[in-house]
Amino acid sequence: MLTSGPRGTHDITPSEMKNWRRVEKAARDICDLYHYGEIRTPIFEHTELFLRGIGETTDVVQKEMYTFTDRGGRSVTLRPENTAAVVRSYLEQKLYADSQATKLFYIGPMFRYDRPQAGRLRQFHQFGIEAIGPAGPSVDAEIIVLAVRFFESLGLKDLNLMINSVGCPKCRPQYRVVLQEFLQDKKEELCENCQSRFDRNPMRILDCKEEKCNRLSTGAPQMIDCLCEECTEHLAGLRQYLEAAGLTYTLNPRLVRGLDYYTKTAFEIQYPLLGAQSAVCGGGRYDGLIEECGGPSTPGIGFAIGLERVLLAMEKQELLDPFDDVVPVWVIPIGSMSVLPAFSLLNRLRELGIPSDMDHAGRSLKSQMKQANRTQARYVAIIGEDEARTNQVTLKNMSTGEQLLMSADEAINQLKQEMNG
Ligand SMILES: [Zn+2]
Ligand SMILES: [Zn+2]
Repeated sequence: MLTSGPRGTHDITPSEMKNWRRVEKAARDICDLYHYGEIRTPIFEHTELFLRGIGETTDVVQKEMYTFTDRGGRSVTLRPENTAAVVRSYLEQKLYADSQATKLFYIGPMFRYDRPQAGRLRQFHQFGIEAIGPAGPSVDAEIIVLAVRFFESLGLKDLNLMINSVGCPKCRPQYRVVLQEFLQDKKEELCENCQSRFDRNPMRILDCKEEKCNRLSTGAPQMIDCLCEECTEHLAGLRQYLEAAGLTYTLNPRLVRGLDYYTKTAFEIQYPLLGAQSAVCGGGRYDGLIEECGGPSTPGIGFAIGLERVLLAMEKQELLDPFDDVVPVWVIPIGSMSVLPAFSLLNRLRELGIPSDMDHAGRSLKSQMKQANRTQARYVAIIGEDEARTNQVTLKNMSTGEQLLMSADEAINQLKQEMNG
């Protein structure tokens, strides 16, 4: 117990962090480019927020939340996703006050009590966008373009973009009736999950992963054939903007979102090489959510990208950088007399912005040189007892093998020139 983490968690060690930082930097860079501001909300919220903001009937809320009572007797939940929390913050911090559009992004851990499998952990990480305020399809296209360009900036290829419209509270109720009528006499044959969806959420039957449900719903009427005028125009607009941006996509009528506050645009980006877990980005419009969370009626749209899956995709395409632990300068004290002058020299180097290190364990010259070689040092500054007494340094160029005795000041000047050049 003490030496293994909880099931479904993963330690990201320094050798992996290099690629995590690259992915997170790519996310921050593209959000700067598209004028989205970073927001960092707490990792736990009042449980009520997720009951309202995700929906009490969803699998996430019913089976997957990390909910506990804190010492004050309040029910809190580790966030299973971040849209509800961002909306809560948007309302609480009045982020709408000085702008027509509030464009936000986040990067951070999410928590779901789920069956762990490849690319799916109980603590996982998401990069997400929320654009709150604008109602028109150009912002839908903007965040889809942003997501696609994010993946491309990491070198990922052969992504599939799929879009759909899930309608709105005006046109969806009629569609539900038509869909239920189609499925009525097949109801008993559906999987257990879909039988319970039949009344509360029949659209989700369309994207059930069970083969038999897929077969039974083949030929079912489609939402896109039942859209109201406003939703039809919105979808046509989105398609125009995506085409203007040069994106290729498929219209997938089976791409659905379960809850009432989801409206119009739904989209997903898949990386097919990941197999069953190929969705790397899912998003959609949620024009009813902010009202559901207690705010004024305000449109919004967002997406979330699972970063573990992005890294798996990069691994498949051999895009991950190998770990290299590089330290350009090592300061090497020999004997206890030399440690203090070595420490002072090291401090001066670091103050000049020269990445450098020294051994703190009193190891032999040989093992310190080995360490310097392993980290691709360009120079080592050796301080033996003689050098310590005379405030000098033996500076060794590791590629030529040349070594020179000089004053500490001279060594610093030379390293400064070499490292900046
Ligand atoms: Zn509609
Ligand atoms: Zn099913």
